[in-house]
Amino acid sequence: MGVMETKRRVPKADQPPPQSSSLYANRVRVYPRAVRGLDRRVKWAILAVCLGVYYVTPWLRWDRGPGRPSQAVLLDIATERFFFFNLEFWPQDVFYLAGLLVLGAVTLFLVTSLFGRLWCGYTCPQTVWTDVFMAIERWIEGDRNERMRRDQRAFGLNRQGLDKAWRKLSKHAIWLAVSFWTGGAWIMYFADAPTTVVQFWSGTAPAPIYIYTFLFTSTTYVLAGWAREQVCTYMCPWPRFQSAMLDEQTITVTYQAWRGEPRGHHLKLDAAAGARLGDCVDCMACVHACPTGIDIRDGMQLECINCGLCADACNEVMGKLGRAKGLITWDTLARQNARKAGRQEKLHLWRARTFVYLGVLLVAISAMGVALAMRTHTAIAVAHDRMPLFVRLTNGDIRNGYMVDISNKMGRPADYVLTLDGPKGLTARPAGVMHLHAAADSILELRVWVSAPPESAHGSQRLLFRLHNLTNGEKVRYESVFLGPK
Ligand code: SF4
Ligand code: SF4
Repeated sequence: MGVMETKRRVPKADQPPPQSSSLYANRVRVYPRAVRGLDRRVKWAILAVCLGVYYVTPWLRWDRGPGRPSQAVLLDIATERFFFFNLEFWPQDVFYLAGLLVLGAVTLFLVTSLFGRLWCGYTCPQTVWTDVFMAIERWIEGDRNERMRRDQRAFGLNRQGLDKAWRKLSKHAIWLAVSFWTGGAWIMYFADAPTTVVQFWSGTAPAPIYIYTFLFTSTTYVLAGWAREQVCTYMCPWPRFQSAMLDEQTITVTYQAWRGEPRGHHLKLDAAAGARLGDCVDCMACVHACPTGIDIRDGMQLECINCGLCADACNEVMGKLGRAKGLITWDTLARQNARKAGRQEKLHLWRARTFVYLGVLLVAISAMGVALAMRTHTAIAVAHDRMPLFVRLTNGDIRNGYMVDISNKMGRPADYVLTLDGPKGLTARPAGVMHLHAAADSILELRVWVSAPPESAHGSQRLLFRLHNLTNGEKVRYESVFLGPK
């Protein structure tokens, strides 16, 4: 299923190029009008949930015992830990992040193949904050026509100029306040929220907190207040490759051309010509409601974020005209083509790609679930010395050196027994069986030398480090090598 470009912005190929051809096209300012309807209500509800989760999460508390962070979700850069309720991730657990990214990506592919750009239209942060900023703009400056009229007036010391000035100032002040709140909330995912707020306002917070708050505040203000649909159209890579996930069975917001065309203003219908017009009265309500400023009647377009606001706008018009709603509605291309041909077609949600995405998703979820369930609070990592790989001692024995890291991921101290299993007759320093102690939430570093008599130290042999955590009973192991002359 191809994605066509907007006629509004891209000249048709068969048109002669303009005399002063330029690679730069001026931005066409979009003034979306307010709409009411089901899609709009669903969008408000999702927006409220997304913002609620975003702003509230850093303030959730979680008791992890004395001396441990009490924030439920915290990415603690200083200690290199990520806390998520009762889970704690160390840098070595980065593969969980990789798993999470795979899960997110495949879920996005699945949803896109079924319902188009649902993510873009309803949950993408750019959409959510732009929606908030537009609502503020509408509240202060009025709806589409009022905003357009006011923007054509000049600032000045007359009544209209002053009216425009105070409204613009108020809008930008509130936008900045929301941006600051948003940027500040993001910082609190990286530092204890109540402490950060106190430090911030008393001027005692570390400099990076002020710098990053400013950075995220300005980013939110520019992207949601000024750039808006330009982010979706020109900056975001997602629309470029999402068309590969769509097919003619994907449910997207579509204009039912078979019913709407030929479009025309019915009051201007030339009855003498006997023309029979479709249901579209060419009122442009759908275009004026679109946050990206496109005309859904031109077909599927790169700029369409699948928000459904044009469907709400059109339903309002159809309701007033006493016609059936759904001239713009969620539908598939296949069903539209079938209707045009006078047939009915069912929805085909269960397609080959649905099964493929679901299969990958199930495998990824299972792998993540098993990995999480089998997670231990004890970890061992061993690094063999690289230079030299081995040395020959004065008694002829071959000796290898190792750096052993034992991670105690518990919030309390732990005792361990470390034993080695390898070439026949091996001896180890500091001891063959090592009794170790690690402080709470720490990494114990240990230098270990392993020696073997010359007759059993040939080539590369397996050397197993077995670690028994006496405090919680966990047993882990690390397989390394013992190297000798060939
Ligand atoms: S065309 Fe309709 S669905 Fe697409 S972005 Fe515009 S309003 Fe949203
Ligand atoms: S809102 Fe409906 S009737 Fe009006 S122009 Fe759009 S599709 Fe046609």
